Amino acid sequence: MTSADGAFVAFERVQKSYDGINLVVKDLNLSMPKGEFLTMLGPSGSGKTTCLMMLAGFETATHGDILLDGVSINNIPPHKRGIGMVFQNYALFPHMSVAENLSFPLEVRKIGKSEREEKVKRALDMVQMGSFAGRRPAQLSGGQQQRIALARALVFEPELVLMDEPLGALDKQLRETLQFEITNLAHELGITTVYVTHDQTEALTMSDRVAVFDDGRIQQLAPPDELYEKPENSFVAQFIGENNTLEGVVEQIKGNTCIVKLDSGDIIDAVPVNVSAVGDRTKVSIRPERVEFNRERLHDDAHTLKAEVLEFIYMGDIFRTRLRVAGTDEFIIKTRNAPDQQRLTPGDMIEIGWLAEDCRALDA
Ligand code: ADP
Ligand code: MG
Repeated sequence: MTSADGAFVAFERVQKSYDGINLVVKDLNLSMPKGEFLTMLGPSGSGKTTCLMMLAGFETATHGDILLDGVSINNIPPHKRGIGMVFQNYALFPHMSVAENLSFPLEVRKIGKSEREEKVKRALDMVQMGSFAGRRPAQLSGGQQQRIALARALVFEPELVLMDEPLGALDKQLRETLQFEITNLAHELGITTVYVTHDQTEALTMSDRVAVFDDGRIQQLAPPDELYEKPENSFVAQFIGENNTLEGVVEQIKGNTCIVKLDSGDIIDAVPVNVSAVGDRTKVSIRPERVEFNRERLHDDAHTLKAEVLEFIYMGDIFRTRLRVAGTDEFIIKTRNAPDQQRLTPGDMIEIGWLAEDCRALDA
């Protein structure tokens, strides 16, 4: 029995070192069901590309196993793994037409001419590039080239597609359009996808699950809403979305809540996530939209803090307010622009608080 039973893609205790000394991937465990869209998200150098390269077969694991459909692929060469790939820099063959670029992976797989033509046409239609078959890559825009790269990765109908920052070179609007097209295609075709990015918005909007990488390890693997709302450690809380951090010491733990004495001397309520005992140092994490500054939603016995408004920004749909509170000048709250929502002015003194369940006591 292994943890990967029934998984389509599995990494089992995988390590990678390029120089025989430093591990750039450390004890990686991951298993994906068929059809899942999983994103590896993390800062530059955290080991994402290395993991993708090992799965593709261009790098070998120093330790551990990688399984595809239950079979170890450590000794299967890249072109026999049936994996489609898309990279940031397109990597189309410049001397070939669009149709020839797409036909190439089919020729390699010894597919006959008429079937090739049919598949190329279908793949081009899929990415709305049907009328560009005769062009050279240089005659296409960046977004169009990336659509062709995507079509080329899909043309031989792989069960698994790997994408490494495929939209990194494109402007924001095009990126958003293609994000939508890629996830739609992947789900429609039932393709299992491993997608790499350092862009958290991209990861959150596209993925069934996100593996947050840092320092060669998966820090948390969860669906987007869980990552944002229930970060398991300070790294994830800081890396995903906007976050307020307050530092202090655990004073009391009672089941699902704990009391933290902040370094400023203030007392707050939190969920003990990543602290184990009274006396532990902690960084508590609270999202800007979960802070209340009227007491309506708070329990009567909730602790509150006095805060000074430093900045009030009208953003249309929301108000973004920066506060001085508990020794920091960088505490952000976000409130919805509703008819009855109070607008604040720098210098105002307010009282803020939160439900203990919205505030997480994490590792310091
Ligand atoms: P990411 O894709 O998350 O930015 P990488 O997997 O590219 O991270 O890199 C992880 C670490 O491995 C980095 O420290 C990087 O410098 C190192 N590294 C990546 N590729 C090689 C290589 N071919 N030879 C030596 N070191 C490498
Ligand atoms: Mg990379």
